[in-house]
Amino acid sequence: MAPSPQAKLDIAERLCREQGLKWTSQRRQVMALLLEQEAPAGAYDLLDALQRRHQPGAKPPTIYRALDFLVSAGLAHRLASTNRYVACGHLACDHGHEAGTLFLVCDDCGAVREAPMDSPLRRQLQRSLDSEGFRAGAQPLEMHGRCERCA
Ligand SMILES: [Zn+2]
Ligand SMILES: [Zn+2]
Repeated sequence: MAPSPQAKLDIAERLCREQGLKWTSQRRQVMALLLEQEAPAGAYDLLDALQRRHQPGAKPPTIYRALDFLVSAGLAHRLASTNRYVACGHLACDHGHEAGTLFLVCDDCGAVREAPMDSPLRRQLQRSLDSEGFRAGAQPLEMHGRCERCA
């Protein structure tokens, strides 16, 4: 059985504290909202939800600060191609992102999956980048298409 959003929220808190980072009620609220989303959400949708549920006076910088924090702590990801945010799909498992992650974005339903990149693929990609003299940033790779359900 998949862990509940509450269980994932507890894991997120633990991962945050393990990195020596502060887990504020605001960060917790935004993480909880992310965990409830079926699909990646835009910052303004999350701001709406935050205002309705927790902080009527919340402003855009409030949500962006919290999201930036969650992304840099590795608890959430920002999809550059759609500018939406999603809770990390690996909160409840032991492996992190060291192995490299490929985000599979469904253009029909918007669902996103974090697929592990196997090492031959990663090495091959690294060789191509090296030969271009290009240093990739931290932004994960994204692939658009249709998920299993929508295909
Ligand atoms: Zn992740
Ligand atoms: Zn789909």
